[in-house]
Amino acid sequence: SEKKGLNFVEEIVVEDLKAGKNDGRLQTRFPPEPNGYLHIGHAKAICMDFGIAEKYGGVCNLRLDDTNPIKEDTEYVEAIKEDIQWLGFKWGEIYHASDYFQQLWDFAVRLIKEGKAYIDEQSSEQIAEQKGTPTQPGTPSPYRDRPIEENLELFNKMNSGEAEEGSMVLRAKLDMANPNMHFRDPIIYRIINKEHHRTGSKWKAYPMYDFAHGQSDYFEGVTHSICTLEFVPHRPLYDHFIDELKEGNDLADHRPRQIEFNRLNLTYTVMSKRKLLALVKEGLVNGWDDPRMPTLCGFRRRGYSPEAIRKFIDMIGYTKFDALNDFAMLEAAVREDLNARATRVSAVLNPVKLVITNYPEEQVEELETVNNPENEADGSHIIEFSRELWIEREDFMEDAPKKYFRLTPGNEVRLKSAYIVKCTGCKKDENGNVTEVYCEYDPMSKSGMPGSDRKVKGTLHWVSCGHCQPAEVRLYDRLFSIENPGAEERDFRELLNPESLKVLPQCYVEKYAATKKPLEYLQFQRIGYFMMDKDSTAEHLVFNRTVGLKDTWSK
Ligand code: ATP
Ligand code: MG
Ligand code: MG
Repeated sequence: SEKKGLNFVEEIVVEDLKAGKNDGRLQTRFPPEPNGYLHIGHAKAICMDFGIAEKYGGVCNLRLDDTNPIKEDTEYVEAIKEDIQWLGFKWGEIYHASDYFQQLWDFAVRLIKEGKAYIDEQSSEQIAEQKGTPTQPGTPSPYRDRPIEENLELFNKMNSGEAEEGSMVLRAKLDMANPNMHFRDPIIYRIINKEHHRTGSKWKAYPMYDFAHGQSDYFEGVTHSICTLEFVPHRPLYDHFIDELKEGNDLADHRPRQIEFNRLNLTYTVMSKRKLLALVKEGLVNGWDDPRMPTLCGFRRRGYSPEAIRKFIDMIGYTKFDALNDFAMLEAAVREDLNARATRVSAVLNPVKLVITNYPEEQVEELETVNNPENEADGSHIIEFSRELWIEREDFMEDAPKKYFRLTPGNEVRLKSAYIVKCTGCKKDENGNVTEVYCEYDPMSKSGMPGSDRKVKGTLHWVSCGHCQPAEVRLYDRLFSIENPGAEERDFRELLNPESLKVLPQCYVEKYAATKKPLEYLQFQRIGYFMMDKDSTAEHLVFNRTVGLKDTWSK
């Protein structure tokens, strides 16, 4: 059928467009609260909200859902914009829920005047206790039938500073017995005595989510309000307030339609902004962009490409059922994408010296090496070869088992892009640690020469001791040591993986790698994908491991 390959949200949108709803308009919004940095869960919502608008000729606006000045800040607003653009999406307009404070206030006043809202002076705990249970009706507040004049007067006091924070709230007078708990006289306004990053001290009474979100969608002309599954039980209230808003008003006759999809949850990490903020504030990670964080800025710094993230989100899809997605699947998408994108360079993370005893002492050869065998257009670069090289300590073994195809006395290996060498022995210090490995090269075996055709099992990477730069390399592992830290009773701080960051202070990278910058994708051959870190300086190079070449997790 023509619907093949469409997700269920697209099916709805296509049907609505076909039926000519909303005069054929498609308008979505991405509505983050600027109280933290965007994480990969948000990327799933972004790909939906922006992606569907792009695909079907609509527009997606960015709405900053800034109705709670306690936690919000302009720092977050700027970061949100940067991350959306990095993912490759463009918004139509930028809106702010705070732009509707006056309209929402006027609407609340109207509800009070119509006897549909009242000021409750009970504590939030008392109000919660009276809510009842889904099978038991709630208890009406003693303030439920307060005279309208008194409600209006108190509502003004909520906003003027005369009423203290927490002393009263405005509630919609709906139905204390409704099986949908959200209808049991929901709180729609509360007092917050804090400067708002956009409206300053103008407002002290702030609308709650359920009284702001749907109306904001309506004011903007949103046609499809796509959100996550936890809002399913809010939908009737969302529709109710839009009905109320339109009733007896000269307002446009359209209504946004709320559609819910499943959240993205990832193994070995958390998505709650409250928890991520705590990790940052308590110094348990090094900022929102710590490469171990599931934030978009963290992944960017670590070396993930936006294309890889979008590919992963495509792979997991959109459904009506919550699930836990495998971090290893995200890493597989990253590996696949970077394989096509990354420049191949040489780096040695755990160095030991290799001396080619029959190679002339002062000689230096410039060897050409391709930047990416997957993409010829990426060209090549020069790497210097000389008598003394750094190789990985793991690539030499004095007494090796039969199937060890690396350096061991008597064995031949190929040095990548260079010669075939035969191991002749090693030197050790008084503790028996290998300090130098010795070999002889075959001058006729240079890559490209006929003598290089010989069958040799192992190929090793290397850097020339006189033509490389020292570097710090940071290896990252899972941030949490258990699969689903969000589902545990224990405090999430206790579940952090103590080995999530391992710093290798004494590595060497070829010179060409040192010319690369953050956001340039690299592969350290035979090791994994890497990216220069923003902490890197000319004197002190720092690289992050993005992901290893192979999946070492799902064994
Ligand atoms: P938190 O509950 O941690 O504060 P939030 O959902 O309130 O997060 P918002 O900034 O309000 O965060 O989210 C903006 C949009 O991103 C919302 O539409 C929300 O549904 C969506 N979103 C947030 N987290 C996820 C997730 N894990 N998967 C998919 N969409 C998400
Ligand atoms: Mg939130
Ligand atoms: Mg939210």
